[in-house]
Amino acid sequence: MSIHRLGADTIGKIAAGEVIERPAAAVKELLENSIDAGATRIDVSIAGGGVDLLEVRDDGAGIEFDDLALAIERHATSKLANIDDLGELRTLGFRGEALASLAAVSDLRMSSVTRASTSAGVLRVRFGVAEPSRTAAFGVGTAVSARDLFENVPARRKFLRQPGTEAGYVSRMVGAYALAYPFIGFTLVVDGRTLFNTDGNGSAISAATAVWGTNIAESLVLLDTPNDLPDGYTVIGTVSLPSVDRATRQQQFIFAQGRLIQSRQLGTAFEQAYHTLLMIGRHPIGCLHVRVPSDRIDVNVHPTKAEVRFADERLVFAMLQRAVREAIVSHSSHQSIPVVVSSPLTDTTVQRRIALAHPEWATPAIGASMNADPIHPDASQVPTTTGKSLPVLRVLGQVASMFVIAEGPDGMYLIDQHAAHERILFEQLYAGYSARSIDQQLLLHPITMTLNARELSTHETFLDDLRKFGFDIDTFGGDSVVVRAVPAILKIRDIEHTLRLVLEELAGGGRGTSRLESLAISAACHTSIRAGQALSLLEMRELVTQLEGCASPLSCGHGRPTMLRMTADELERQFSRR
Ligand code: ADP
Ligand code: MG
Repeated sequence: MSIHRLGADTIGKIAAGEVIERPAAAVKELLENSIDAGATRIDVSIAGGGVDLLEVRDDGAGIEFDDLALAIERHATSKLANIDDLGELRTLGFRGEALASLAAVSDLRMSSVTRASTSAGVLRVRFGVAEPSRTAAFGVGTAVSARDLFENVPARRKFLRQPGTEAGYVSRMVGAYALAYPFIGFTLVVDGRTLFNTDGNGSAISAATAVWGTNIAESLVLLDTPNDLPDGYTVIGTVSLPSVDRATRQQQFIFAQGRLIQSRQLGTAFEQAYHTLLMIGRHPIGCLHVRVPSDRIDVNVHPTKAEVRFADERLVFAMLQRAVREAIVSHSSHQSIPVVVSSPLTDTTVQRRIALAHPEWATPAIGASMNADPIHPDASQVPTTTGKSLPVLRVLGQVASMFVIAEGPDGMYLIDQHAAHERILFEQLYAGYSARSIDQQLLLHPITMTLNARELSTHETFLDDLRKFGFDIDTFGGDSVVVRAVPAILKIRDIEHTLRLVLEELAGGGRGTSRLESLAISAACHTSIRAGQALSLLEMRELVTQLEGCASPLSCGHGRPTMLRMTADELERQFSRR
């Protein structure tokens, strides 16, 4: 084929393909236009997954009659005059492409009225062909509807999913903006049914409750920007406590300068804030909103503005992770009572305290490592000691040699003895490590073990980490190792068996975000009290006291819950007293 210029129609469709990938993308562009127009109410309605119809109405500033036709032309915008304006951009849109793109691939109608005029302008564009604008009666603001999306682009239609799935994407999109803009009231209607309705009263929790459901209202917390950040850096948002989790990441939203963005890095920062608090494979929900000085972000790197570039990505990563971690750790439904961790000491004749002369091992406060590598964060961010979140509990007894029953000021607690002890040992290992002082239990008779190839290579990989926690262990020619000391707090009975279990788990990948953390999780798990072990009242009290002293007492290092709580109210209800 000889070289020729493409027709306007083809150019339009090609450009539309980039911006309007699917109905949810069209809805996103329309929402952003309404927000830019200063709307306080935005009503979204779709039918047939948004393909048959998608409509967005707002009560914003509206478009002048004479500008209507221009609004749907490509590269026509009221938001940007020249490239220098990009730096100081206050609007979500700036490319002037969305309406043109949508008009090229749908039967589009737009009605708009400005505050100054009495009648609205109405424009219809059928698959790129505009009809002359006319006037009609219309309330306030702007309504844009698109019917038969992609009817003239069959290839794109084929690529769409079932209407139910597309409707799900639209709902996720509208939900995200409703969460991020609590001062705007959003309504979403799908096939005539109202899915949610936020009241726009400015409360992020009430918006989140409308979008996510009233049943999780009590499990949401608001974020606070950490107070030692450079000027112009803020993070706000609503996130779930570890008591709520989901099988997917679909309800995790990150906004930057007001726009929903995709960022694997920041998603990771969010999830890592829940580390050791959620089960592996479970995910928190949340809507996080980051702002940085406008000259520290490039928003013009993606056709749908979904990706952005931060000049200080690590700082943003750390601030987001810290804000979330601090919010969930400090927030607790329990009253806060300071409890001193009792340090379990074994027979001092076989015990010594070693000083670990490595200042870089000290555990800084949560997220303090602003220079952390965002992809491979230092493990030094692991357990923290901000705030106690368990009240003092009175131990009542044990059930099924597995659970400890206790009473607190706010009801009854059932504590999983294994998970609880695992959490305690995990935090104590780290406490000794960060204090650079570990109590070792010296073995009067060092143990020599022969390792298989897999155990040997795991042992070599983890040798440094084993020593950091107080294992005195050395290779002893060929495939043997000799163990001279172990961490005293673990009170290991069968050292050989335990070490093999730990090496086996670590060879399988480990459960932590670093070698050190994987080791702590595994060592704590294989040395803690088992289910099935009968405990004396004294032992149970000791267990509960130590759990009260944990920074994150509600789950074990693997993320399983350590306890269930039943309030007196709930008990009364169960007995039909209420
Ligand atoms: P952009 O948002 O990048 O400027 P669009 O194609 O989305 O490009 O919109 C073109 C122009 O139409 C906008 O700059 C704005 O002036 C006007 N416009 C679009 N939607 C609305 C709306 N809901 N209310 C008021 N004006 C709007
Ligand atoms: Mg726009």
